Amino acid sequence: MYRCELCNAVQAPRTPAVKVVVETRPAEYPSRPKAHKMRIGRKLKSFDDPGGAGYEIAREAFACPRCAEEFLAKQAEAEAAGLFDEEPQLTPDPVREPEPAAETPAEA
Ligand SMILES: [Zn+2]
Repeated sequence: MYRCELCNAVQAPRTPAVKVVVETRPAEYPSRPKAHKMRIGRKLKSFDDPGGAGYEIAREAFACPRCAEEFLAKQAEAEAAGLFDEEPQLTPDPVREPEPAAETPAEA
């Protein structure tokens, strides 16, 4: 038994809960030289981690299967409409600047 975080209704026992991603944020990780160590033969070699940019989960919610299905359908629709089309940009400097919020609340 749990309370669905989307419709706020208590679910019947033995109803499976689905975790849905409600919010994401753009994230950028700098490259880390010699971050990975691997043994090759007898020698310990180190390799660089390239770093990268993308989106990471900012908020998740436990939802009932019905709500989750509805939510995911709505999210796919918004994605198809091109609401989240912008690609995360890799900036060369390692200084983390506060980025403008990429999340645009659906205005419809
Ligand atoms: Zn629900």
